Parts: sequence; C-alpha cells; structure tokens
Amino acid sequence: MMVRGKFITFEGIDGAGKTTHLDWFREQLASRLAAHGRQVVMTREPGGTPLGETLRGILLNQPMDLETEALLMFAARREHLAQVIEPALARGDWVLSDRFSDATFAYQGGGRGLPRDKLEALERWVQGGFQPDLTVLFDVPTDTASERRSSARAPDKFESESEAFFERTRSEYLRRAAESPERFFIVDSTRSIGDIREKLEEVVASI
Ligand code: ADP
Repeated sequence: MMVRGKFITFEGIDGAGKTTHLDWFREQLASRLAAHGRQVVMTREPGGTPLGETLRGILLNQPMDLETEALLMFAARREHLAQVIEPALARGDWVLSDRFSDATFAYQGGGRGLPRDKLEALERWVQGGFQPDLTVLFDVPTDTASERRSSARAPDKFESESEAFFERTRSEYLRRAAESPERFFIVDSTRSIGDIREKLEEVVASI
C-alpha cells in the first residue's frame, strides 16, 4: 500500500524571513525524499490552483468586507485541498505550502479581528480535522519585520498594515502554536540566516 506523504507549511508575519528559506528547504527535503522515489510539491496560499491564483489577485489587491475576505480564503483553500494537496499526499508525495489556515487565523482573525469561532467553523467545514503534519513558524518582533519589509519590496494590501496589526497577527500565530505544540516548529527569526538553516536541517532530518 502507498504510504501517504506529509504536509508541511511555512508561516509568519510579512518580513519574518519565510521566503528566504522556502526554496532552500524544498531542495533539502527533495534530496532526502528522492531516495524513496517521492517528490515535493511546492505550493502557496492564497493560491495553488488556477481559481485560487485568481482569488489571490483579488484578495491581495482589492478592499472588501472582512467576512467576504475570510470566506474567499477558505473557498480558495477548499479548491487547493481538493485539486492539489489531497491528491499529492494520496500518491505519496510531500507538499510544502507557503501559508495555510494558520495565516487566516493570524491575519483575518488576529490582525483584522474576525471572531475566532467563525474561522473555526470554516476550518471544520473545509478541512474536517485535517491539519499540516508540520508547521514552521518564522517568529520575529514586528519592528524587525517592518525594517526588513521596507528594505525589500513594495507592499501589497496586507504588507502595508500598521505595526499594531502585525502585533496582533504575530500573537495569534503564537497562540495557534501554543494550542498545537506537536505540530509547530518555531524559528527564532532574529537569528542569522545561517543559524536558521542549521536548525532547519535538523528539522528535515527528523521528519
Ligand atoms: P517573508 O517571506 O517572511 O515576508 P522574506 O524572506 O522576504 O520575508 O525576508 C524579508 C527581508 O528580510 C529580505 O530582504 C531578506 O533578505 C531579509 N531577511 C530574511 N531573513 C533574515 C535574517 N534571518 N536576518 C537578516 N535578514 C533577513
């Protein structure tokens, strides 16, 4: 019988350093899995499917009602699970996603203030009990993240939010991590890129 693959997600507030490690982590994982004839499927949220990428363009650039935003995030996620994530895991491949549901709790819940019970209801609807096998959370103080963002790129709708918004977003990420400690690996993103890679090498070796 085919052994199911694993689902790994990368999370963190904008500027925490997620993107810096994503491709490198995929390569580490891919070389470990190649020996077993398995592949790594790299994907992202919002997005990951043609419909999801269309929704991403709308979500990242257009103002909208908060509940609309949360519903569209979970609609895109439903499509992503059905079209990409579930089939890949079922054929034994591993999936690495740049963001997943923790981001909706952090941004729409923590950041924007949508009541958590509504997000939990959507999460149950869309995912049942499904959760990532591992979530790597890049955690950094908001002032550090903001300095990194301003030197790196022009902001999208979320990236141009206030410091207070990112404080609430970061807190909700940490609350989600405390709620499911077995699923999370928290990276202290104030460390150097080299130090962080050493930690992540240990993570790859242990999964
Ligand atoms: P994210 O994807 O989490 O928004 P990025 O990976 O794009 O963040 O990083 C934002 C900026 O911070 C980039 O210019 C990147 O080079 C820099 N950066 C990332 N990690 C570190 C680190 N550990 N130390 C110093 N600078 C970093």
